[in-house]
Amino acid sequence: MLTKVIEQAKIDRFARWMGHAERIVIVAHVAPDGDAIGSSLGLWHFLNSQDKTVNVIVPNAFPDFLRWMPGSKDVLLYDHYKEFADKLISEAEIICCLDFNALSRIDAMADAVKAAKGKKILIDHHLYPEEFCDITISHPNISSTSELVFRLICRMGYFNEITKAGAECIYTGMMTDTGGFTYNSNNREIYFIISELLSKGIDKDDIYRKVYNTYSESRLRLMGYVLSQMKVYPDYHAALISLTRNEQGRFDYIRGDSEGFVNIPLSIKDVVFSCFLREDTEKPMIKVSLRSVGTFPCNQLAAEFFNGGGHLNASGGEFYGTMDEAKKVLERALEKFKPLLNAKG
Ligand code: 5GP
Ligand code: MN
Repeated sequence: MLTKVIEQAKIDRFARWMGHAERIVIVAHVAPDGDAIGSSLGLWHFLNSQDKTVNVIVPNAFPDFLRWMPGSKDVLLYDHYKEFADKLISEAEIICCLDFNALSRIDAMADAVKAAKGKKILIDHHLYPEEFCDITISHPNISSTSELVFRLICRMGYFNEITKAGAECIYTGMMTDTGGFTYNSNNREIYFIISELLSKGIDKDDIYRKVYNTYSESRLRLMGYVLSQMKVYPDYHAALISLTRNEQGRFDYIRGDSEGFVNIPLSIKDVVFSCFLREDTEKPMIKVSLRSVGTFPCNQLAAEFFNGGGHLNASGGEFYGTMDEAKKVLERALEKFKPLLNAKG
């Protein structure tokens, strides 16, 4: 049995909305990851089963390794179909905001969602949610939004309506936001939920292969290159990897190719903090990805030095400047956080 994580009143209210609504839009964060797409499509499959007209809209493209997901071809990319998406958003009776905590995280879609007249519900697990929805279901202690979607559907009494396709999407989000159940994954209820998803006929081993083992040769070579350039800071229990636009060009880089790289330095004994700096292909900025093991709060470092945020062990931010400048900022951050980096825990 699952603990009742989501407040009953919120579930009842959403169920009431759903009973009356025809047109529903689901939106998730920019540069959507497995949990953004997984939770959105998980909810999409369920709402489809209730004969709603449902559309998933995300700000921009998601990586190729998520394209096998059932329903992914119907996900609307806002940067390609702005006009159509704006119409759907403005006409929706309900807008479900998934896997983000602030309107700024949906980039160019923020204005349309903010202005929309439809009722809004937030379903998310990031800290400090902004108040922009009528219902805010925010549980930072739950490791994925996909898990929250599963909990919501079940609590509304619709476990039987979850299809194999929906279960595959939910499982994918739970898996990717925990690094294949290697972090934020000690809550035993996660495994109860997995067991329930397996009862829908999903093949979890196959999902793992589709997400993690379908890369190109050039991606693996890029990984080798990036690691060969890695800088380790033994005194700070930290490591830094980076990727410039120029280097991306040399390895036929496509979006998503560096997914997961930031986790690799954490496999070094005694490294508890990893930073990955990558020059963005679209905006003139450096995308900062941070990971930690144990108690080191990379979200604090992200907020203080890289205008970002996120979770204790997985956060990110943006840096406007050169790669060398970004590295210097990181080194200043390491100095400032040295006591925490050296703390046992
Ligand atoms: P990733 O390194 O996979 O891009 O991001 C990991 C986590 O960091 C995300 O799930 C999100 O919570 C957070 N994050 C990433 N980029 C940003 C950012 O620019 N701003 C904020 N506030 N959080 C971010
Ligand atoms: Mn998530």
